[in-house]
Amino acid sequence: MGSDFRQDLEFFRDLGVTELFLDAPVAAAAPVAGSFPDLAALESFLAGCPRCKLSGSRTRIVFGQGNSKADLMFVGEAPGRDEDEQGLAFVGRAGQLLTRIIEAIGRRREDVWICNILKCRPPNNRNPEPDEVASCMPFLDEQIRLISPRVIVTLGTFAAQAILETDESIGRLRGRWRSARGARVMPTFHPAFLLRSPERKKDVWEDMKLVRDYLAEGEKHTD
Ligand code: URA
Repeated sequence: MGSDFRQDLEFFRDLGVTELFLDAPVAAAAPVAGSFPDLAALESFLAGCPRCKLSGSRTRIVFGQGNSKADLMFVGEAPGRDEDEQGLAFVGRAGQLLTRIIEAIGRRREDVWICNILKCRPPNNRNPEPDEVASCMPFLDEQIRLISPRVIVTLGTFAAQAILETDESIGRLRGRWRSARGARVMPTFHPAFLLRSPERKKDVWEDMKLVRDYLAEGEKHTD
């Protein structure tokens, strides 16, 4: 706490004030689809975002990072503790496994775009709530429009259901191509789930081979 602020509080306490009310988050405008020239402009618009209650508990906004012209995008659920501290997506243990998954198909993290449905950490890593998704989804949609990836890999139940606008289970969704938001979408398991259930890594490898082969096929046709 700054010393001026502390002095103000002490002053009010000495006057007998026992309660202080902080302003509730202000509803800021949603991003207008198609109005951002690039990711940097979108990120500036998001800076200091007060659009949902997570603004009160997050340490940093986690915009996402990687190649702004990537043909491949990975979308997870929401930042965890490490991501909240560093302001970068997928940098904790699940992120290290994601790095290995990306490298297994001959790419580097810098070649792809990595982000989440939510840009702020839910307290105690609880599931995202509908109002939080509604506030944050326009930012992901703008990221998808600006990057225009050929393939989006969704990581885990939550990202698959949000991007595909379905309530089907990840067990049914994973490993099958879908189309959404102008891209081919491949739902697969979340790396955090793989840390708990390593026997499912082989399923993710099957999914990633489909992604690798689809992207390689496209490269042949653009030669
Ligand atoms: N889990 C996610 O879904 N996203 C991250 O960035 C980290 C962990």
